[in-house]
Amino acid sequence: ARQQATPALVPYEPALGEWELQQIQIERELRLALEDEQFRLFLQPQFTAAGELRGAEVLLRWQHPERGLVAPGYFIDHAERSGLIRPMGYWVLEQAVELLRGPLASTDLTLSVNVSVQQLSDDDFLTRIEALLEKGGFSPRRLVLEIVESLLATPGMVMTLCALRQLGVQLALDDFGTGYSSLRYLQEFPVDEIKLDKAFIDPVQHGTDAPLARSIIAMARTLHLRLVAEGVETASQLEFLRQQQASMMQGYYLAYPEPIDTFLARRELQACS
Ligand code: C2E
Ligand code: CA
Ligand code: CA
Ligand code: CA
Repeated sequence: ARQQATPALVPYEPALGEWELQQIQIERELRLALEDEQFRLFLQPQFTAAGELRGAEVLLRWQHPERGLVAPGYFIDHAERSGLIRPMGYWVLEQAVELLRGPLASTDLTLSVNVSVQQLSDDDFLTRIEALLEKGGFSPRRLVLEIVESLLATPGMVMTLCALRQLGVQLALDDFGTGYSSLRYLQEFPVDEIKLDKAFIDPVQHGTDAPLARSIIAMARTLHLRLVAEGVETASQLEFLRQQQASMMQGYYLAYPEPIDTFLARRELQACS
């Protein structure tokens, strides 16, 4: 059954006008938010083409004391610019791992966590991931790290990605096809999954063909990569993706991002415990 709409996300409107001042103000608020534990994980279910729950993408929300639930679009850029994305990102990873070894331990569901380029270029990123895996209680392959393709990929980052994969975690290329060097990335990075950007299936919604989507899905199959179609909003898009044999689907038509408790109450999970 279709889900109800997500709670309205309140736009973030800083009191100060100038960008620099905004940055300073938001940075201060983000620091406080970390200390006060104002961040929340939302989980957006991901399904196989057959409609089976496979796992979820972890999406950050800011439960702001006055503004309510704030979406990442309003604070991620500021977090990146101030470097706060690092501690925030590690917090997200820790919480996700606690879910995998706690309430999700009796399932084989995966959690996909967004990792910023700044985290990836940290010298101790690998060590931190290793430490999380050493806590045990879950198979490393149930942790999927989503990396956005970017022009900034350094040889060091490529090495980190290879080492991560050796640890057994899975790697996904996020927003595939929107960057400048998607195909080169595929050649150089050892990835398990590509996430087809929403833009490629948008035409289907208007009854138009989507030849690029078809080609990318076929390419993923040739390369034996799992393909997750993002932003599935309509029945016609779902039908199209099934016809093209896309492996996985994620989007509002199937499920909105939901609070952890809502996800844990899913019928599919009850059967496992
Ligand atoms: P993303 O990684 O591409 O995540 C998918 C975004 O698309 C999410 O937005 C999700 O709510 C939205 N979405 C899912 N299904 C649909 C659909 O059918 N239609 C439409 N129009 N949108 C859909 P959200 O949660 O606002 O996150 C935005 C971006 O913020 C993410 O894009 C990701 O780049 C970033 N982000 C979120 N959480 C984290 C995090 O923990 N760490 C980092 N570094 N970035 C994060
Ligand atoms: Ca993502
Ligand atoms: Ca994406
Ligand atoms: Ca994106």
